[in-house]
Amino acid sequence: MKPTHIEHIGIAVSSLEESVPYYEKVLGLECYAIEEVTDQKVRTAFFRVGETKIELLESTDPEGPIGKFIERKGPGVHHLAFAMENVSEALQNAADQGVRLIDEVPRKGAEGLQIGFLHPKSTQGVLTEFCGHE
Ligand code: ZN
Repeated sequence: MKPTHIEHIGIAVSSLEESVPYYEKVLGLECYAIEEVTDQKVRTAFFRVGETKIELLESTDPEGPIGKFIERKGPGVHHLAFAMENVSEALQNAADQGVRLIDEVPRKGAEGLQIGFLHPKSTQGVLTEFCGHE
């Protein structure tokens, strides 16, 4: 039950319009998709860096998870997502080891992936996501 790679790094930003040009101009990356995930009250912008993606997260609602995160901590790294071959097994395996889960079962995330979050209190302070195709 080992991750195959870092699927993406989620970064909370105040505004995609302000942040996307940094990734494009300074880092030379190409924004290949902008997608709204209404469930999570965010708009996301994606960049590829090798096998890994950068996922910028802009809140669409101050009461949503990213809105609250920015309110508390300001913009910055929000979560780390590991690619797993089987997300439900990976979540179960973590739970069996006493890890507190945010998602007991996978749900649908951006790009049609199956995703599930582990609670940062159980993951050394890093909000951790498992994701994969199922
Ligand atoms: Zn994510």
